[in-house]
Amino acid sequence: MRIKVVGAGLAGCEAAYQIAKRGIDVDLYEMKPAKRTPAHKSDLLCELVCSNSLRSNRLENGAGLLKEELRRLDSLIMRAADMTCVPAGGALAVDRVSFSTLVTNIIRSDKHINVIEHEVSDIVYTEDEPMIIATGPLTEGALLDSIENVMGEGLHFFDAAAPIISGESLDMDIVFEASRYERGSDYLNCPMDRDEYFNFVHELINAETAVLHGFEDKSVFEGCMPVETMAKRGEMTLAFGPLKPVGLVDERTGKRPFAVVQLRREDKEGRAYNIVGFQTNLKFHEQKRVFSLIPGLANAEFLRYGVMHRNTFLDSPRKLNPATYEALNTPGLYFAGQITGVEGYVESTASGFVAGVNAALKLLGRAEIDFTTQTALGALSHYVGEYAGHDFQPQNINFGLIDSLERKIRNKQERYRAIADRSLEKIESIGKILLN
Ligand SMILES: Cc1cc2nc3c(=O)[nH]c(=O)nc-3n(C[C@H](O)[C@H](O)[C@H](O)COP(=O)(O)OP(=O)(O)OC[C@H]3O[C@@H](n4cnc5c(N)ncnc54)[C@H](O)[C@@H]3O)c2cc1C
Repeated sequence: MRIKVVGAGLAGCEAAYQIAKRGIDVDLYEMKPAKRTPAHKSDLLCELVCSNSLRSNRLENGAGLLKEELRRLDSLIMRAADMTCVPAGGALAVDRVSFSTLVTNIIRSDKHINVIEHEVSDIVYTEDEPMIIATGPLTEGALLDSIENVMGEGLHFFDAAAPIISGESLDMDIVFEASRYERGSDYLNCPMDRDEYFNFVHELINAETAVLHGFEDKSVFEGCMPVETMAKRGEMTLAFGPLKPVGLVDERTGKRPFAVVQLRREDKEGRAYNIVGFQTNLKFHEQKRVFSLIPGLANAEFLRYGVMHRNTFLDSPRKLNPATYEALNTPGLYFAGQITGVEGYVESTASGFVAGVNAALKLLGRAEIDFTTQTALGALSHYVGEYAGHDFQPQNINFGLIDSLERKIRNKQERYRAIADRSLEKIESIGKILLN
């Protein structure tokens, strides 16, 4: 028995691991190192192309609940992320090199997984030898043509990455350590007064952006909007958004700054920092000029500039099985990851988990698992497969996708916590089925 998995990103690695864990051989195809997408820089498997954050760890947050469900069901990606985490307040952020190295080593040493470094250009599958396509949002060329022949034309949006700067180039006489509301001191903060803020916004909205082919419709993902696009919505938009100073006091002045740019560690030692919320499409020299106006970053050394890319996803509703991510009209063909219309690292992992587990169960002749809309894992797959409108768009997991409770709880945090408790109970019972 064998399953082919195409693409060794977050979804593909999780799917391969779950299949192998059930005793089935996996051919895991990855086109790196011979060919890389414009966003992939490393030759390791399971690369994080932008931020090093897997978002909140709190159960009252959709991403926190999704991660906890995955942990309880033995997700490889979650285990690796927990083992390579760096301090990030209530969020889970990882050292990206340690994280990808760990996943690569585990995948490459699994006796059931055969990593094949080859670019796949055609989809070839049968019910007896299924295929999971997990080639990510930057799927292109012959493979995309082949997918569109079977699944219909893909949709797209634009996604941007934030720059990374070196820790030693920061001016620590200006930058201060603190997390919001005194929850530890995991972030660095660049404080701005009123004049600095308005001058920065002025330069930002007038800076030169890179030309993007096909960007005429300007469809960007709201959760990953370029900072300059957000700034153009209004001069206070950033101050109420990623630069909001709430919960932050600069101990040196004893005051709350007018606005704050936060920096998140890329590694435990603080050699590199991600500028939080600064995904951008500015030309590289403009990033250097404008972002160096941020107090503390006058001499910032850019280890990686921000970039923007066109993301492709399938018009999945009514084409994928909402419980399993298997294509409805072509049994044996599955999709996983961002190409299905889930959005984000954890969501891509989650769909790889569900597709991998179900492809394996079906091949073993066992009943497939519907995680149902009472869990975050299932709410995501059902959103992708069942969205009813005609404007299907990628989604991060959120409580709006999960079934509400029968009883009313007015307090939002308590309500989310009760929903999370119910989800985790359901996950516990599914976990017992999966163990057998
Ligand atoms: C510019 C940009 C910024 C982003 N920023 C964030 C962010 O900050 N946070 C976040 O949560 N998400 C972000 N995303 C979304 C991110 O891509 C997904 O969350 C996640 O990486 C998707 O996982 P995946 O497994 O579906 O695809 P990927 O992680 O992209 O993995 C796909 C793999 O398939 C391989 N591959 C592609 N084509 C072929 C082929 N024909 N044959 C063989 N192998 C192939 C690729 O080399 C790659 O290794 C960003 C995306 C982009 C493009």
